[in-house]
Amino acid sequence: MPEGHKTHFFAREHSQLLAGQVLKVTSPQGRFRGDARKVSGKILAQVTALGKHMFYEFDSGQIIHIHLGRYGKFRNLACPPPAPVGQVRLRMIGDENTIDLNGPTTCRVIDDELRQQVANKLGPDPLAGGRKADAWEKIQKSKKPIGAILLDQSVIAGIGNIFRAEILHDVGLSPDIRGCDLPRAKFDQLWRSTRRLMKVGLKYGKIVTVTAKQAGMPIAKVQGKERFCVYGRKNCAVCDHPVDTIELASRKLYRCPSCQKVR
Ligand SMILES: [Zn+2]
Repeated sequence: MPEGHKTHFFAREHSQLLAGQVLKVTSPQGRFRGDARKVSGKILAQVTALGKHMFYEFDSGQIIHIHLGRYGKFRNLACPPPAPVGQVRLRMIGDENTIDLNGPTTCRVIDDELRQQVANKLGPDPLAGGRKADAWEKIQKSKKPIGAILLDQSVIAGIGNIFRAEILHDVGLSPDIRGCDLPRAKFDQLWRSTRRLMKVGLKYGKIVTVTAKQAGMPIAKVQGKERFCVYGRKNCAVCDHPVDTIELASRKLYRCPSCQKVR
């Protein structure tokens, strides 16, 4: 599932491709047809992201709200677009570019009030100017382990399963320490790490947590699981200790027992 760096990456890319243009909006598959009619022929003002949610804001005040979920996938195409491939829920056709969307969890037209309701349920997004204090307020009261808290979008918005593992590893934190037991200094470090790793992800359009030195090549070239320190790996990229996994918040969490001793 795309994590927060990717929604911001898409928002920036799609703004560059389509903003300021009158869009033809369709739903080749049909499930979005009614909503597509509401915004087709309107000018797309901008695309923004908040956590794992995306908002295509039209001059008319209407907004296409998208959550990619596990299977949502964008495809960038030219104009005029070729025949749709698979179940294309949403097709946005601009002057020179077309964007198709298949398989999202959410794709609907909403107004600003509904968008606010979505935003109110989310914790701070480090890539959208979210406030550190808002995350700390919830974490310091929580009796859940930090490894579970980090996946809770109402605490920090945008962290998924890969970021969770890599952020905890980056700050040397055991995933089972409870929020209420987390020292403030460690939380500060965790927030800094989250921001930094998300910014790197946004810059390259993919999560990369190893350094160029660890990877033995420029960051932009690192592919697959070689991009990570612990996620999906047999051995830790930093210390080479075997990585183990635990089940936390119903998802598999990778950790290095040697690097992540703070608890
Ligand atoms: Zn390690």
